Amino acid sequence: MTNAVEAVGTATPVPTAGDLAARTTGLRKTYGQTVAVAGVDLAVPRGGVVGVLGPNGSGKTTTIRMLLGLTTPTSGTVELLGHQLPEHSGRVLPRVGALVEGPGFHPFLSGRENLLRCAAMEPAVRGPEIRDVVEQAMERVGLRAAGGRKYRGYSLGMKQRLGLAAALLVPRELVVLDEPTNGLDPAGTREIRQIIAELHAAGTTVLVSSHLLAEIEATCTHVAVLHRGSLVAQGELATMLESSAPHLQVSTSDRSSAIATLRDKGIPAQEDGSAIRVDLSDVNSSEVVAMLVHAGVPVQEARRARTGLEDLFTRLTEEDM
Ligand code: ATP
Repeated sequence: MTNAVEAVGTATPVPTAGDLAARTTGLRKTYGQTVAVAGVDLAVPRGGVVGVLGPNGSGKTTTIRMLLGLTTPTSGTVELLGHQLPEHSGRVLPRVGALVEGPGFHPFLSGRENLLRCAAMEPAVRGPEIRDVVEQAMERVGLRAAGGRKYRGYSLGMKQRLGLAAALLVPRELVVLDEPTNGLDPAGTREIRQIIAELHAAGTTVLVSSHLLAEIEATCTHVAVLHRGSLVAQGELATMLESSAPHLQVSTSDRSSAIATLRDKGIPAQEDGSAIRVDLSDVNSSEVVAMLVHAGVPVQEARRARTGLEDLFTRLTEEDM
């Protein structure tokens, strides 16, 4: 295990069961020789927006499907809103909204007709409310104009929006979104971020998967990183991003003058192998380089070090290329 993983893995205190909207213990799924999920202990804090981050094939969808009772685990347990699955699915799942790959919409019905069918199956929606609930959900995801078109003619982005509308038909305690921005244009991506922010503000717990770090950084309070079926880190996003303080790595042939110049100005700097390491807490990279050049110190290279999460994720994705 790498230093970054250890650092972020120990950074956040372990929440108690009551604080969690979802929890898995030793969750595992194999398909023949393929280990899709290799014993995952996932903790989803109530009220958080938790990003499940990982490269393609790292087990995000399989984990989410097991969490929702759509795929049977090979071993391990799933607890949703304090109840074990699959024993209490009937009681818990209506309180959970989900957007997962391939939702079962009817291709020959319109988006609106599909949603009417979904709304009719929601225990919390009474008959006379169904039409209003559907119109509001379509409005929220920007699908009203296309509501009368048949599902089979929908673009990928429109299908995503319809899936999201179904997930948000009624207020939920937990909303699970598997790659919600997949197929969406930049405007659609912004709308999804807005919807996630609204859900968060209303106290809903959100679990959202993505293979894009920027996507997770823009929307989440917590992150769980999957790699080859294993959970390699989880915790608060802010803690993970700060797990290494920002600093600049400067290569110079005159390290002692460089350190003296910076320390004179109150900027912490120290030798780091053949380079120097400069603390960027109170100064930015270009100011450091300007100070050194101004003082006549030769600068061969200046590189901003990555944050803990960026560093971890870059190494994971580079390994998988
Ligand atoms: P992506 O970002 O590409 O959607 P992911 O992180 O969601 O990937 P999964 O779809 O969970 O990853 O897949 C994890 C692994 O399990 C992959 O190697 C995949 O090929 C395999 N896998 C998933 N579902 C099945 C299945 N039904 N049968 C066989 N193998 C499967």
